[in-house]
Amino acid sequence: MSDRILKFKSDSLIAFNEEHWQKLNYNTGCFEKRFSSSKNNYRDAELERQRAYLLRNKSLMNLEKLLVDFETRFKENGGTVLWARDAEDARDMIWDYVNKRDVHGVARSNSTALDEIEINDFLELKRVPLYETSIARFILKAADQPSYHPVFPSLNLSKEEINGILNERYKLKLGSTSKQMVNFVRHQINQELTRAQVCLTGASFLLADVGGVVLTENEGNIVKSCASTKTHIIVAGLDKVISSMEDLSILLPLTSAHATGKEMTSVNTIITGPAKNGEGMEQTVVILLDNGRTELLENEIIRQSLSCIQCGACVSVCPIYKNIGGLSYGTPYIGPIGTVMAPLLYGLKEFQHFASLCSLCGRCTEVCPVKIPMEDLIIENRRMIAEKRIGDAKFEALVKTMIGHCKSRKKMDCPQWLKKLEYKQLVNKSAFTKRTLPEMAPKSFNQLSQ
Ligand code: SF4
Repeated sequence: MSDRILKFKSDSLIAFNEEHWQKLNYNTGCFEKRFSSSKNNYRDAELERQRAYLLRNKSLMNLEKLLVDFETRFKENGGTVLWARDAEDARDMIWDYVNKRDVHGVARSNSTALDEIEINDFLELKRVPLYETSIARFILKAADQPSYHPVFPSLNLSKEEINGILNERYKLKLGSTSKQMVNFVRHQINQELTRAQVCLTGASFLLADVGGVVLTENEGNIVKSCASTKTHIIVAGLDKVISSMEDLSILLPLTSAHATGKEMTSVNTIITGPAKNGEGMEQTVVILLDNGRTELLENEIIRQSLSCIQCGACVSVCPIYKNIGGLSYGTPYIGPIGTVMAPLLYGLKEFQHFASLCSLCGRCTEVCPVKIPMEDLIIENRRMIAEKRIGDAKFEALVKTMIGHCKSRKKMDCPQWLKKLEYKQLVNKSAFTKRTLPEMAPKSFNQLSQ
């Protein structure tokens, strides 16, 4: 069993921590309520989802052309576009800018793409100070914890825990109110921003028609970072490109409604390149990140995962996430979409256990604003794992035995103690070590009916 799977097994034991379970279910429950009421923003929410589904699929079908269009326009606007084959490529490109310009500090926003290329670890290794500009991530950095949720990174922390972290790290008085804590963190972020010369962000969308980068946020810290630095580097997956500004009128409100329940995110910015009059951003660089995405495009079923607009709704409703939390996944891609994407981006064999992190309840598909049929994708991953014979051999043996029992009348009617013994042997050797098996019925249904 690989180290990753062993780590997953130990980390996911948090599912049996009652306090963690209650906190996570309460917080995700709040999101569900806000999200449900946001449906009232639409006369026909289902029609809007259908439109978004078609738009995203059309973009994926024309990806090659749209990317070239985006590159051409963005360069015409004075920006730079670089193509990164993988995470290492992207990191090297960033380092090129940081190193050449004798940079003493880098600011970053909350972005899954930046997490995907592991920029924090990289810059730490290079001894370049990195400043988090989102309030939640600032707190997590102080606690030395990774993000717990793509939209609400500190979803796992209570107000008191945050106060404890800020007290320990910055001596902020215990018993501070939420407002005091937010004001304190904002002040710290503003201070740190004065020490950064480069800002790194992801992108919500890339606009092929105007060569623009769409940035959405609720705190306004991305805008502040752009205003206080001279170089802006944007890392965006190839899948982020859409054809036009018109598409935004559908996709932006849907992203916001499914991410936070709000009609629109508070701050929406479109950047089309560096400042033209010499006042403001001197360099704007977009790194288009492949990192396995072109391979995903080859599989018709799996391709649909690239429609994701990273609203995080599927994560908040997933019963598996609500139990094992965000850290157990061990990747920036978590919840249902992570269950699909991580094995495909990082390796099917290494992440084969992700295919089991789904009860196929379908809640994720129900809420997804771009109608990604998540169960189909997870089943496709399972199919590939079975076909390549890289799954957990013990688990496969368990399933085979169960099928064998269900097919044999003699085995179904064998004594209760024998069934119990057999299943206990098998189940204990497989993934489930913390649960007890339900009692076997003394007689099978067939025996009862005779
Ligand atoms: S898969 Fe759908 S619900 Fe999940 S994050 Fe992506 S767009 Fe949102």
